[in-house]
Amino acid sequence: MARLIDGKQISTQIKEELKEKVSVLKQQGKEITLAVIQVGADPASSVYVRNKKNACEYIGIRSLAYELEETVTEEELVRLVEELNDREDVHGILVQLPLPKHINEDLIIKTISPKKDVDGFHPMNVGALTIGQPSFVSCTPAGVIQLLKRSDISIEGKECVVIGRSNIVGKPMATLLLQENGTVTICHSRTKNLKEVTKRADILVVAIGKPKFVTKEFVKEGAVVIDVGIHRDENNKLCGDVDYEDVVDHVSAITPVPGGVGPMTISMLMNNCVESINL
Ligand code: NAD
Repeated sequence: MARLIDGKQISTQIKEELKEKVSVLKQQGKEITLAVIQVGADPASSVYVRNKKNACEYIGIRSLAYELEETVTEEELVRLVEELNDREDVHGILVQLPLPKHINEDLIIKTISPKKDVDGFHPMNVGALTIGQPSFVSCTPAGVIQLLKRSDISIEGKECVVIGRSNIVGKPMATLLLQENGTVTICHSRTKNLKEVTKRADILVVAIGKPKFVTKEFVKEGAVVIDVGIHRDENNKLCGDVDYEDVVDHVSAITPVPGGVGPMTISMLMNNCVESINL
């Protein structure tokens, strides 16, 4: 039977550590502030924004909420981000994605000061990560590294396969695994013989966006499987990109959905917010 990598417990542990750091900063008269901008009222985005605000409150970070109409113009949003860039009392800026179609997401991400880009999406932060310099790192892949480290799963010298090459998960994930001295392969929608490649993995990270796609035919016996996906199945139950029931007896360790990677993303966002006070 596989070991369950408990993201809920590890993320709680990280939040407790951060709470402690924030209280020390407060004693030194420093208060961290995160500005969260939401455009429109997409229900999924509203849930994410609420969770982020609650996490801030729990840790002791002040959060400023900007709830803008769906019809806000690109210029108005750029202006707001620039104002927040200039404010010394604001340390982190987060624009909840996706944005409505009339707003260029890349432009908005580039407008956020790299020093306040707690999501780690700005090209400067992505570039710094790539060349191994200090940067804000995209929260989900950073969370996966913490899950592995805090579960005493070593990455060095391991065959690591990432399925998915998105800018926010797959690519930074591969870079982080490489930094930890893994031997890294990235698979994507054009990869030939996917199962042959994924079966080489000692550590398989799945960020493909397709419910229960990865079955045991994709996985080497005894591998560690990290499931980044989040979906609702036909019974409205949460599930991942991995067919958990099919794979669980075949692997040495696995993240469940829910309770695996999901809770880590928000803890790593909080970690980036705490770091933002030093920039
Ligand atoms: P995405 O759609 O941007 O990228 C999916 C990637 O999978 C693409 O690079 C594509 O090439 C690859 N892919 C698609 N079909 C494939 C196939 N048949 N074979 C091989 N590769 C294939 O998705 P994303 O934003 O990277 O997210 C991936 C999943 O992770 C989604 O389910 C998303 O909801 C979830 N997610 C979870 C968190 C979290 O906090 N847990 C955060 C971000 C994303």
